Amino acid sequence: MKEILKKSALELAQMLRAGEISSVELTQACLDNIDRLNPKLNAFLYVDHEGALAQAKAVDEDRATGKELPMFAGVPIAVKDNMCQRGIPTTCGSQMLAGWKPPYDSTVVVKLKEARLPILGHTNMDEFAMGSSTEHSAFGPTLNPWDTERIPGGSGGGSAAAVSAYLAPWALGSDTGGSIRQPGAVTGTVGAKPTYGAVSRYGLVAMASSLDQIGPVTRTVADAAALQDIIDGYDPHDSTSLPDSDIDLLDEAQKFSGKKDLAGLRIGLVDQMRGEGYSEGVLNVFNAMVDELRQRGAELVEISCPSFEFALGAYYLIMPAEASSNLARFDGVRYGNRVEPKEGPVTAETMMCATRGEKFGTEVKRRIILGTHALSAGYFDAYYGSAQKVRTLVQRDLEVAFSQCDVLISPTSPTVAFRFGEKSNDPMAMYVNDIATIPANLAGVPAMSIPAGLSEGLPVGVQVIAPAHEDARMYSFASIIEEIAVEEAAKCPVEALEEAL
Ligand code: GLN
Repeated sequence: MKEILKKSALELAQMLRAGEISSVELTQACLDNIDRLNPKLNAFLYVDHEGALAQAKAVDEDRATGKELPMFAGVPIAVKDNMCQRGIPTTCGSQMLAGWKPPYDSTVVVKLKEARLPILGHTNMDEFAMGSSTEHSAFGPTLNPWDTERIPGGSGGGSAAAVSAYLAPWALGSDTGGSIRQPGAVTGTVGAKPTYGAVSRYGLVAMASSLDQIGPVTRTVADAAALQDIIDGYDPHDSTSLPDSDIDLLDEAQKFSGKKDLAGLRIGLVDQMRGEGYSEGVLNVFNAMVDELRQRGAELVEISCPSFEFALGAYYLIMPAEASSNLARFDGVRYGNRVEPKEGPVTAETMMCATRGEKFGTEVKRRIILGTHALSAGYFDAYYGSAQKVRTLVQRDLEVAFSQCDVLISPTSPTVAFRFGEKSNDPMAMYVNDIATIPANLAGVPAMSIPAGLSEGLPVGVQVIAPAHEDARMYSFASIIEEIAVEEAAKCPVEALEEAL
C-alpha cells in the first residue's frame, strides 16, 4: 500500500498545494487500494472510477493554470449510500432502491463538489441506516479492517471501514442514533455528529427526520473539523437548517494543540454512562483517559442525568415512528423497485404489499411495524407521547449538566467490535450498542467519537458531547483527547489485514 494513503486530508491538501503530488495520482492510489481491498471488505457499494478521476483531473488542470482553489481541492472523499448524488446509484443498502440513480445532488454533495473533492463512491450501510453492525445491509456486511471476523459498527460501517483501512482519506456519514460515532469507536476513526441543523439534510434519504444529521468520518480531529467547515451552513432547502456560523472549526480544533496544562477546563462525567452495560476493557481505556485529564489539571465534575436511563427506550419509539412515516414513500409508485403480486388480482394495494414485502429487509419491517403501532390512535399517548416527554427530560438534564461543565465525556460504545452473528438475531442486544450515543440525538447537541485506546487489541472510542451550537468547543476538546490518546488506537494495522485477505 502506498504510504501517501496514510496521510490525513490536511497533510494531503498541503502536498497538493505544494505540487508534491497531483490529485489524479492521489485519487488513482485510493482507487487502486479500493480495487484491491474492497472485494473482501465490502466498504464501498459503488465505486465511481471515471467520475472521481475526471474531478481530480479538472482540479489538476485548474491548479496548473494558477486558478485559486478551495483549501482541500483534489483530496478525494467517500459518501455514505444514503446521500443523493446525481446519476450515481444511491441505494441506502436496500433492495428497494437497488439501481436507483437520483436526478439531483444532495446539498452536502453540492458542497463537496464546490470544495472540489473527487467523490470516490458510495459506502455500505445497514438498510435505511437501521442497525449497528452493517449486517442489515441487503448487499452483505462490511468487514472490520482491524479484525475481519468482526463488525465495523453501523449503520455507517462502510464509511468507517473505508477510512480506517485507508481506502479514502475521509468520508461522510449520517447519525440518527450513533451511526457515525459507534462505527468510529469500533474502527479507530474519528466520527462527529454536528448540532442538529448545522448540516443540511436536503437529499439525505430520511430515516427519522428530527434525529438525522450528516457528519464527518475521518482519521484526525482536525480533518473532521475541516470537513464540517466544508459541509455546514444554512440551506433554504432544509426547514431545520441553522443560520451560517462564521466560526472556523479547523482553527478551533487546533486551539489547544500542544497545551499540556488543562487548568480551568471543566469536564463532566455522567454517572449513567460508565457503569452497567459497559465492558471492563472499554471502561479501563476510558478511566485511563479521565486520570490523564485530571493529572493535566482539568476539573472532573460528577454529573447525573437520570433521564438517560430512558433515552434508549424513547429513541426506539420516536425513531421507528418517524421512519414508518418517512418510508411510506417506498411503495413501488412514488419510489422503490416495483414488484407485481405473484397471484391474485393486481391492484394498487396488492402491488404495494408485494413491493414492500419483498424489497424491505427484516429490520426495516420490524421498525415500520413498531413505529406504526406506536403512532396508532389507541397507543399514541402511551408510547409516542411518553417518548417525547423523555426527550424533553434528556434536553433538560443536559442543560443542567452544561451549567456545571464545559463538555461531557463518556465511552462511545459499550463494547469493542463484536463478532458477526453475535447480535444480529437479537434486536435488543443490537439496540443496546447505542446506549451512549442516543442522548445527543434526542437533544440535538453535537457529539463525536475519538479513538482513545485499545482493548483486546481493538480500538475504543471516547465520546465528547458539547452544548447545542458549540461544535467549536466539541472539536477543541476532542483535540485534547486525541493528543492524550494511545496513538495506535487510530492506526489500523492494515498490514495484517492485507495478509488476511
Ligand atoms: N444504531 C442505531 C439504529 O439502529 C442508529 C442508527 C443511525 O444512527 N442511523 O437506529
